[in-house]
Amino acid sequence: MKRKQVFEFFRRLAEANPSPTTELESSNPYQLLVAVVLSAQATDASVNIACRPLFGRIKTPRQMVGFGEESLRDAIKTIGLFNTKAKNVIALSQALIDHHGGEVPRTRDELQALPGVGRKTANVVLNTAFGEETFAVDTHVFRVCNRTGLAPGKNVDEVEAKLEKIVPQPFRRDAHHWLILHGRYTCKARLPECWRCPVIDLCRYQPKTMDPTSRPARSASRASSKARTAKARTVSKPKASRSRSRPNRLP
Ligand code: SF4
Repeated sequence: MKRKQVFEFFRRLAEANPSPTTELESSNPYQLLVAVVLSAQATDASVNIACRPLFGRIKTPRQMVGFGEESLRDAIKTIGLFNTKAKNVIALSQALIDHHGGEVPRTRDELQALPGVGRKTANVVLNTAFGEETFAVDTHVFRVCNRTGLAPGKNVDEVEAKLEKIVPQPFRRDAHHWLILHGRYTCKARLPECWRCPVIDLCRYQPKTMDPTSRPARSASRASSKARTAKARTVSKPKASRSRSRPNRLP
């Protein structure tokens, strides 16, 4: 995608949603870090449901360690991989107390040194909690970047490196939120909703999908073809039964 088109791509996403942010609920950087760790291979909605009551009483690493692994496991048991995640959250909370005075560190290296924190989690925390221009590449961002031709890459690291290079100001800070939300609600994995996509003319994906409600003629013809097949089947049955019955009538 050319530089002008990249600018226009983000300009349109920004126009549609001027203040994008994460859908994970939290009230401080520590809770955000925990929510992002819990959201691996789980939906933000499922994390929010489990975390609402949890975050009502746990706001600091010290409180989390006091809460304990068993209680945490029980509190997040509706989220996938809850055993490992509970272990990691307790361990990362202890590490925050031991090495960072109970605060969430602001550098990628320090974040990635915490149990259960990978590059994507570090990028989300740096961006959302501390306003850094980072590009967290999750499954939605990866798909959108490849489908559209915005920042194609064989793996998340390649896509992230391309985004770093091509996303212009003033869109760098919010770019990853726009891409996640675009992938989650419009450029969906199984059926991208191209017919209502604000960047349809900039995207290289083919063939574009059509609005299902604007295809009555096709469904009608499919229905009538089904009816024809059904009729053909009903018509052919007596023939088969005639041929089977013939031998009985023969002398
Ligand atoms: S046109 Fe379709 S494939 Fe391209 S970004 Fe929009 S929804 Fe995705």
